[in-house]
Amino acid sequence: MAVCVRSLHYSGFSRQILKTTAVFSKRHISERVSSKSEPRSAPQTADHVLYTQEHFALKDSLRKIIDQEINPYVDEWEEKGQFPAHRIFKILGSAGFLGVNKPVEYGGLGLDFSYSVAVAEELGSINCGGIPMAIGVQSDMATPALARFGSAELKKEFLLPSIMGDKVACLGVSEVGAGSDVASIKTKAVRKGDEFVINGGKMWTTTGSQADWMCLLANTSDGPPHKNKSLICLPMDLPGIHIARKINKLGMWSSDTAEVFFDDVRVPCKNVIGEEGMGFTYQMLQFQEERMWGVANILTTMEKIIQETINYTRQRKIFHQPVLHHQVVHFRLAELQTEIELLRSLLYRCTALYIKGNDVTKLASMAKLKGGRLARELGDGCLQYWGGMGFTSDVLVSRFYRDSRLMSIGAGADEVMLSIICKYMDTLPKK
Ligand SMILES: Cc1cc2nc3c(=O)[nH]c(=O)nc-3n(C[C@H](O)[C@H](O)[C@H](O)COP(=O)(O)OP(=O)(O)OC[C@H]3O[C@@H](n4cnc5c(N)ncnc54)[C@H](O)[C@@H]3O)c2cc1C
Repeated sequence: MAVCVRSLHYSGFSRQILKTTAVFSKRHISERVSSKSEPRSAPQTADHVLYTQEHFALKDSLRKIIDQEINPYVDEWEEKGQFPAHRIFKILGSAGFLGVNKPVEYGGLGLDFSYSVAVAEELGSINCGGIPMAIGVQSDMATPALARFGSAELKKEFLLPSIMGDKVACLGVSEVGAGSDVASIKTKAVRKGDEFVINGGKMWTTTGSQADWMCLLANTSDGPPHKNKSLICLPMDLPGIHIARKINKLGMWSSDTAEVFFDDVRVPCKNVIGEEGMGFTYQMLQFQEERMWGVANILTTMEKIIQETINYTRQRKIFHQPVLHHQVVHFRLAELQTEIELLRSLLYRCTALYIKGNDVTKLASMAKLKGGRLARELGDGCLQYWGGMGFTSDVLVSRFYRDSRLMSIGAGADEVMLSIICKYMDTLPKK
């Protein structure tokens, strides 16, 4: 395996980008039935609506890392129920991929969010949903509020090592009794002198059993539910933090999901991100990037599943002709591809508005809603054309069918997205 290093320059800031060349030692059955050329997520042209040559250079460098350091091991990590987050994040962090839109002084590349979208898209070429999700938690879900509102001291202690891949981050918002209704979380942080004493627990914490710190949402006062919360940087090795269990799941197997309990955990008050009491607002802002990131990520995977389905159905013959040649099949795939392109346009428009400083809550919610629905439709639709093969664990389409189901639940369920859209349409009944 040959690894050479080169230097790329982004916005006056240079970081070493690992340039890797490798030959797959291990390939998935579905890859073996695929044609040799992997589909690109978008045409590599200079006049792309959102991406420049620099976006494509970033994507290409990331693709090499994925092909060499991640995809050959995905099957093994899926079976194990966990991927080695510290090892993979160090590789990605050293190459600059964990902080493309984060400040240069904390190890980021200082680029705008469109580069994060490009990275998220490329991460969709990982052969499972769990690893990209965990990478997204690190780069675009647990750290945006810290980067935007955190003190210099907190950024040095938590943001910089997360961007460099030296510390693994997790996000602690959801609880056993509160997922969709974030305002009703019960975890409490009570001020005692210059410390908070934390009691409660978090549920569904991605990478929770490997993380070094958590971006924790907790109630820091008894005020109204939108004004009594704070985001706190919580080191995960403090006394009183218990990882209760690693949850067995329908999909996302290579991503460990933990339940975490807090029993009189003491953390300095200075670990609050930004202003105390602003945690709910910060988290809602943080959700926008999480949702756009999620859509970008699943676009590539959906394209890959369509392409794999084309490849398989072209060579699989039924009733004396390829499955693909039945009109119902190629028409359906064309329809799904059209839906992908519509979603891509919405995402790019949303991203372009976001980097200009606009509030994109409505468009990001629409994209997230559509992303979840389309992933379900596409997973089910494509799997059907694989027949019995689609029902085995040996093909990507069945993994996608399981993994992508989360898209309509996590980071705000479809119904939560609908409620947000209705709020913007002013159609919610007044209370
Ligand atoms: C694999 C995985 C990883 C996750 N990672 C993290 C993480 O790292 N950090 C974190 O904080 N959370 C994480 N989550 C939690 C995730 O965000 C929540 O599961 C999600 O927000 C839904 O909350 P809930 O599961 O409590 O469902 P509930 O809130 O109990 O909702 C159940 C269902 O009710 C319906 N519903 C919701 N609102 C409405 C409404 N207004 N009208 C009608 N119906 C409605 C929806 O269909 C919803 O699915 C993860 C979850 C999973 C499964």
